[in-house]
Amino acid sequence: MKTFAVLQLSGCAGCEVSLLNADAWIRAYRLVYMPLVISAYDMPPVDVLLISGGVRTDEDLYNLHRATRCAGQVVAVGTCAISGGVPSLGDRYEVRDLFLAEEGRRHVPRLLPRCHPIDSAAPVDLYLPGCPPTPELFMAVLARPSDFHASRIICQECGRKKLRDMRPAHLIGFQYGHVLPDICLINQGFLCIGSSTRGGCRAPCPRAGHPCVGCRGPSDALIEGESSAWFDSIQRVFSALTDVPVEEVQKGLRSPQLSLFLFQFSDYSGKGRPPRPKEKVL
Ligand code: SF4
Ligand code: SF4
Ligand code: SF4
Repeated sequence: MKTFAVLQLSGCAGCEVSLLNADAWIRAYRLVYMPLVISAYDMPPVDVLLISGGVRTDEDLYNLHRATRCAGQVVAVGTCAISGGVPSLGDRYEVRDLFLAEEGRRHVPRLLPRCHPIDSAAPVDLYLPGCPPTPELFMAVLARPSDFHASRIICQECGRKKLRDMRPAHLIGFQYGHVLPDICLINQGFLCIGSSTRGGCRAPCPRAGHPCVGCRGPSDALIEGESSAWFDSIQRVFSALTDVPVEEVQKGLRSPQLSLFLFQFSDYSGKGRPPRPKEKVL
């Protein structure tokens, strides 16, 4: 039986909880290391290693190097492992100062100057974006079901209808007011970016009336491009369906709740490193 392990770096454990909600892999794998649920000090050699969380501390870096040395396949799981995600909020100086203001916190693992994606320090074979990836996506990695099929974009999984004659003049806030069923959230004034976000999660957010914030990252058509191509693509959809001023859409796209996910695959652009190939992204 093949083995797999889960290494948790700086994150929130949401990825692990989602993995535990999947169970099809139990018949195909033996889980040998996952500190959240299994007591084990050392990770033995494994066939598949899932890594969640960003590289935020020197301990993360040490554990990452140690674990990837004895893994057959390395999978970067979730926004934090791919681009820093939530732990990268701590890159701001005032957050570091606040953290270090407590004397006791100086004795925990040393913070690196900034949070890093795991592939800046170790080779990655597969990327599984999502915050967290759904249980079905975890099973797609581990159990490889022949009937798994991810749509190109979230809109194809959402099922809400886009209307040409229901054009809001301004955006409304997140989950503000009454949400009409079946009609595209953009027509209702919400900043939903499902049209440029890769499918696979089955669109739980827009189907429930909450705009997609893009945690699955850009679709294949945009994943290897500059982030400006993604902005343009979203803007085109808003221009077709709304009368919301361009500046208003752009401001919303750069808001903290979206920017965490929007730049998930664009953090290499302009830094002399190639983008992650779409063939490696599930
Ligand atoms: S990707 Fe999301 S769910 Fe996973 S560890 Fe990061 S914040 Fe938590
Ligand atoms: S833009 Fe959002 S609400 Fe509209 S169809 Fe796409 S995913 Fe659904
Ligand atoms: S619908 Fe959007 S925000 Fe929700 S899980 Fe899917 S990609 Fe993430």
